[in-house]
Amino acid sequence: MSLTEIDRIHALLPHWVESSRQQCSYGKVASYIPELSKSPIGALGIHIIDASGHSVSAGDTEISFTMQSISKVFTLILALMDIGEEAVFDKVGMEPTGDNFNSMLKLELVQPGIPFNPLINAGAIAISSLIAGASSTEKSCRVLDFLRLLSNNDSLSYDLDVYRSESDTANLNRSMAYFLKDNGVLEGAVEDVLDVYFRHCSISVTCADLAQMALVLAHNGKNPLTGEQLIPRRYVQIAKTFMITCGMYNASGEFAIQVGLPAKSGVSGGILTLVPGRYGIGLVGPSLNRKGNSIAGVALLESLSREFDWSLF
Ligand code: GLN
Repeated sequence: MSLTEIDRIHALLPHWVESSRQQCSYGKVASYIPELSKSPIGALGIHIIDASGHSVSAGDTEISFTMQSISKVFTLILALMDIGEEAVFDKVGMEPTGDNFNSMLKLELVQPGIPFNPLINAGAIAISSLIAGASSTEKSCRVLDFLRLLSNNDSLSYDLDVYRSESDTANLNRSMAYFLKDNGVLEGAVEDVLDVYFRHCSISVTCADLAQMALVLAHNGKNPLTGEQLIPRRYVQIAKTFMITCGMYNASGEFAIQVGLPAKSGVSGGILTLVPGRYGIGLVGPSLNRKGNSIAGVALLESLSREFDWSLF
């Protein structure tokens, strides 16, 4: 009997996790959000799930971590579902920047002064203001409920220590938000918008939660386990395109060449990625490279993509 791909992944994964883990010592954990500096620098874990619910995991998959920028993919999708493409892209552009995720540089330089894309901080803050809801609390509840639905995990919640730590120290994001408000990009009170943003960044997940969310994107918005269409196909297409072009910040070009899959990373060291039509993948490795992506996580995905010929290109 020949081995299926998932059997081969199962056989190879523990070894690859251990060899990729060696990269951790060349990176650093994020410290600009003080609470994140407590993350375990040597950790690496990955969970892969297929359309029939078979899963494989290896490494430190028991640890919880905050979604950070990974949540931006889903606030974008929710805003698209709430108000449609035209209204969303009236406030946020569609182009990569080549700058750091928290850069303000081009906001003033390039007209019409709207953020370049929904995955940089300025764009995601603008998206937070577009989520439907009568108050910031209602908007935040809608985001959390949406992620609970996609992850099939009703107990998904916030890491309040990370939330407070970011909210107390976010001078740069705060200045960006006030700048956006002045440009007429943000709807509503700036601090309310920021609260929605900090809350969705601090949603606590495991690799399995991310893999489950990614599985829905891998199947064009349908949960293959239940057959339920959770997101319109068009909005998944938009989200996956941004993941390819901007998902790994200003390393997205290199990641597209070396791995070739739609992905989104966060400063907690999480990466959500997927093999279209096949797998949802969640991983965590808090030690980051200079561009802010998990150093060991990227190495592990490069090995997997090469071995199983997963690149879309
Ligand atoms: N909450 C983080 C911030 O705004 C998210 C950034 C990230 O994950 N790259 O700085």
